[in-house]
Amino acid sequence: MNILLLGGGGREHALAWKLAQSPLCKALYAAPGNPGIAQHAALVDLDAADHRAVVDFCIRHSIGLVVIGPEAPLVDGLADNLRATGTPVFGPGKRAAQLEGSKGFTKDLCRRANIPTARYERVTSKDGAIAALPDFGLPVVIKADGLAAGKGVIIAQTREEALDALDTMFSGAFGAAGEEVVLEEFMTGEEASFFALTDGTAILPFGSAQDHKRVGDGDTGPNTGGMGAYSPARVLTPALEAEVIDRIVRPTVETLAAEGMPYSGVLYAGLMLTDEGPKLIEYNARFGDPECQVLMMRFDGDLAALLLAVAQGRLAEQGPVTLADRTALTIVMAAKGYPGTPEKGGSIEGIAAAEAEGARVFHAGTAEKGGRIVANGGRVLNVTATGDSVGEAQAAAYRAVDAIDFPTGFCRRDIGWREVAREAQ
Ligand code: ATP
Repeated sequence: MNILLLGGGGREHALAWKLAQSPLCKALYAAPGNPGIAQHAALVDLDAADHRAVVDFCIRHSIGLVVIGPEAPLVDGLADNLRATGTPVFGPGKRAAQLEGSKGFTKDLCRRANIPTARYERVTSKDGAIAALPDFGLPVVIKADGLAAGKGVIIAQTREEALDALDTMFSGAFGAAGEEVVLEEFMTGEEASFFALTDGTAILPFGSAQDHKRVGDGDTGPNTGGMGAYSPARVLTPALEAEVIDRIVRPTVETLAAEGMPYSGVLYAGLMLTDEGPKLIEYNARFGDPECQVLMMRFDGDLAALLLAVAQGRLAEQGPVTLADRTALTIVMAAKGYPGTPEKGGSIEGIAAAEAEGARVFHAGTAEKGGRIVANGGRVLNVTATGDSVGEAQAAAYRAVDAIDFPTGFCRRDIGWREVAREAQ
């Protein structure tokens, strides 16, 4: 089977690495890809926003499976346009992808399906928001409804901060994503992510992870796309995982199917583990980046066969997903300036030396220039290692990081700190 993978980050490098290992995979194409993905796939010049071009490519190259990595093409309905021509796609259609594309949509679904989540109100004007504010106390969480690349959430500690946040949201700073705003009660607890494959009926758990959103050690500084992650997140115990499936994931899948918008793909639930049990913070309609990298390090199976079973509605025939019991941990090496404007073009040496340490280095924002790898984005490399504990995986991953010479790069030095501290107790 010929496979087309869309995306060009570390997540897609990890997917490409696993897809290329499948006995089912005859040819793997990737667009736009990156130099790491190019080790496993033929890179093609295709714009995922140009649905007609993607559909035509699939027909011309007899593509038997399209794997859509990032959220934007899903929310934009690319999966529907591919399915309409009979091409199997891994990823939800436009209506089900609203789970990620509209926070208000997800909150309303939680209300209809009685899924535990923060109390909320959807507002469409600043005056309406100001009127609703007193119902939430402080801190209050203020979110742009649509996709805002992780920047559309503000946790306001004071009323003044809340009013400033509303000013920003309704000023058009987030474009259409900010025309509607969701106000939410602030939840306290530890965060964890849970992943499940579903074809709209069957549900197969695909492990847990914990990521690190802030740019600085000790979870300080601005939010980023993610500076590192590890899997499994043992804080999500088997009992809690069962509760997440029963109270959050299954009602979501069943409600969407009953309402005529079955969800097919991976459901990524962002969870807050509160004193009252796990509550949903948000859904994403694709694998996380960098969570996907640690899941793929643990995944022991035929990824193409599994994703094809999802795409073809045959997930019930599959056995459970096998994930190694070992911990995988990934460290994001970013270019200086990130999450602001990153320095581009910085030289990177030592990837082979890092891999000789037993780690796997996934490429994210890299480019090849005169046969050498250089930085070409904010998050540049994902240095990933495994171990029998988070502490062991962490030590192995930092040994590999230290083998890389990337003078214009930086990384956090504390990825996995919560679990490392628990392990030390
Ligand atoms: P991303 O796509 O980067 O994960 P997002 O912009 O889609 O983020 P959310 O995941 O909904 O937004 O929120 C981002 C972060 O804000 C969460 O990871 C969590 O730390 C915090 N947060 C969101 N909602 C709440 C809440 N109700 N109570 C406490 N913290 C919250």
